[in-house]
Amino acid sequence: MREPSAELIIDIDRIRNNIIYLKSLLKPDTKFMAILKANAYGHGLNIISKSIDDLVDGYGLVRLEEATSVRKYTSKKILLMQGVYSEDDFKIAYDNKFDLVVHNKNQLFAFENSDINIWLKVNTGMNRLGFLPEEIISLHKLYDLDKRKYVLMSHLACSDNPKDQLNEKQFKSFDQLADALEANFEKSIGNTGCILNYPDQCFDWVRSGIGLYGGVLGNNKLKSAMTFRSQVIEIRNIKQNDRVGYNGRVIAKKDMKIAIVYAGYADGFPQSIMDNSKVVINDQVAETFGQVSMDLISIDVTNISNCNIGDWCILWNEEYTHTNIAKDSNLISYELMTRITPRVKVIYENL
Ligand SMILES: *Cc1c(COP(=O)(O)O)cnc(C)c1O
Repeated sequence: MREPSAELIIDIDRIRNNIIYLKSLLKPDTKFMAILKANAYGHGLNIISKSIDDLVDGYGLVRLEEATSVRKYTSKKILLMQGVYSEDDFKIAYDNKFDLVVHNKNQLFAFENSDINIWLKVNTGMNRLGFLPEEIISLHKLYDLDKRKYVLMSHLACSDNPKDQLNEKQFKSFDQLADALEANFEKSIGNTGCILNYPDQCFDWVRSGIGLYGGVLGNNKLKSAMTFRSQVIEIRNIKQNDRVGYNGRVIAKKDMKIAIVYAGYADGFPQSIMDNSKVVINDQVAETFGQVSMDLISIDVTNISNCNIGDWCILWNEEYTHTNIAKDSNLISYELMTRITPRVKVIYENL
């Protein structure tokens, strides 16, 4: 056996198919922005942008460095979704033809340059970033925005839960503002949850991240693009009442067989993953048993037939997804995807 390594296998076809599915839910003239922030949610910024460029109308990022890197592969729209914070950065954005979000007063200098595309962000109830609707109305007068093309944008706080009334409140605030403004703007409010739950309220641009990568709970059309796996490096039989791992936290209720897998929280399998989370060894479902350590995970393989050193343990894949593991451990798929660390070997399929 060569030196083992945790591996992250990313299937490009699944990302492409997810985009095609999401687009099929939208009106044909709604434009599709692929959100590639945080290294394309851990999937690899440059490779993903190159391999989906024919399917999308633009990209959304938050870091200037990532946006500049994507610019090498595309002439399509690139939006800096939190804008820029200095005149120097504005110049870089301008030279690279980025679109800019303007979400607070310190970013208003961007309006002074008339050729940069602005996305004016309104706070409709998430209360993180954005101007209040009445502030947008004043800005309109101050900067003569009725003469300028821009995108009016907002962000939904609970689009994945259509039962939450905050959705209706946010849509209403957005619509009322849009009605009050007479201008030549486009509108963008939808993230992935909005595409799935409110496809009729997606307006001119959607900004979809998690859906591309297949991390939506309870949706079997969107496929997880990631398989995260590592190899078994030890198998041991333990006796009833033996304790396993740091703090001896888990105690064997009976005689057991456990496998030790060569991956840990330093690879991106969080320490807070609960016992009894499902993993797959030799096409059989096994369960985590004991505290995840930096480099190792212990798995109960008592009922797995012929588990050997060198066998692959799938920590998550298309069927046993990060989304399910996350849910059981009070985490979210977004976090698991973006926590994979640089020492993990990344392999692309269907590139
Ligand atoms: C991250 C982000 C998105 C994408 O959201 P998903 O839930 O991943 O689809 C959209 N808009 C903004 C402003 C974002 O920051």
